[in-house]
Amino acid sequence: MTGRSAVTVRVPAKVNVQLAVGGARADGFHDLANVFLAVGLYDEVTAVPAEALRVSATGPDVDRVPLDRTNLAARAAELLAARYGLEPRVHLHIAKDIPVAGGMAGGSADAAGALVACDALWGTGASRDELLAICAELGSDVPFSLVGGAALGLGRGELLTPLEVGGSFHWVFAVADGGLATPAVYREFDRLNAGVDVPEPVASEALRAALRAGDAVALAGALSNDLQAAALSLRPSLAATLDAGVAAGALAALVSGSGPTTAFLAKDADSAAVVAAALMASGTCRAARVAAGPVSGATVV
Ligand code: ATP
Repeated sequence: MTGRSAVTVRVPAKVNVQLAVGGARADGFHDLANVFLAVGLYDEVTAVPAEALRVSATGPDVDRVPLDRTNLAARAAELLAARYGLEPRVHLHIAKDIPVAGGMAGGSADAAGALVACDALWGTGASRDELLAICAELGSDVPFSLVGGAALGLGRGELLTPLEVGGSFHWVFAVADGGLATPAVYREFDRLNAGVDVPEPVASEALRAALRAGDAVALAGALSNDLQAAALSLRPSLAATLDAGVAAGALAALVSGSGPTTAFLAKDADSAAVVAAALMASGTCRAARVAAGPVSGATVV
């Protein structure tokens, strides 16, 4: 123990500015070329000593967040404790602001947050590499939630290379009613691509150049999401949301990860505010949130 009575960690959501998906492998997973950008929508995970592992959560849609040991934050605490021969005697409270099952890696953010919070609370002093290895065990998107910024993820998305970004990008996120289960979206991808020779996923050089230059117009031209057709097939109403954001002046629109959150890249902060207001007025989404990125990964506050 470090003598700390509580540790709070703030963790950002992500948007995939490129999500290139290969064909289904023999093990059912897909190879990805995944370019992540961390954006300023945050969950906060607070770890407090307790008799036994316990999870609580507050925020919109918390009724869809499991509070048992299937919660990714609880699993993160258990894995860290097991590695150091400790009992996970901790209460994890999640103040949720990232849409649940929205394709913005909310569960992954909570896992990374719990790991950093428990490491500080218990004084385990795990190295960055140890924390990253535990993250990769928890899920493909969890390592990125720890590091933040912008990164290329290969393999299942977990083999990360940090990317240079030359400026801040302004986004609007339209939150849809209900979630989409990521495995269901991949199944739909496989169904839509049955009999198709799906090419190897490759990171876009134009996209990396746009990030390096901090050039929003160039980035808008290079955004891509191979899961978008599958998400739209499962949730056709998202097309109207995408259209409403573009009509309001967004440079580009795409489904965020596996959806159903949709992401709109704006020219600047003022334009993002206009697009958000128009999306709210369109009645095609439940909420519209503005956020800029890149931002730092899991950070003790
Ligand atoms: P990704 O973008 O990584 O595919 P997502 O943003 O679509 O993920 P999450 O918000 O991570 O989805 O939630 C997916 C499911 O994971 C939820 O429906 C829920 O059952 C489960 N889950 C487990 N732990 C959490 C958590 N801490 N927060 C939210 N959901 C969680």
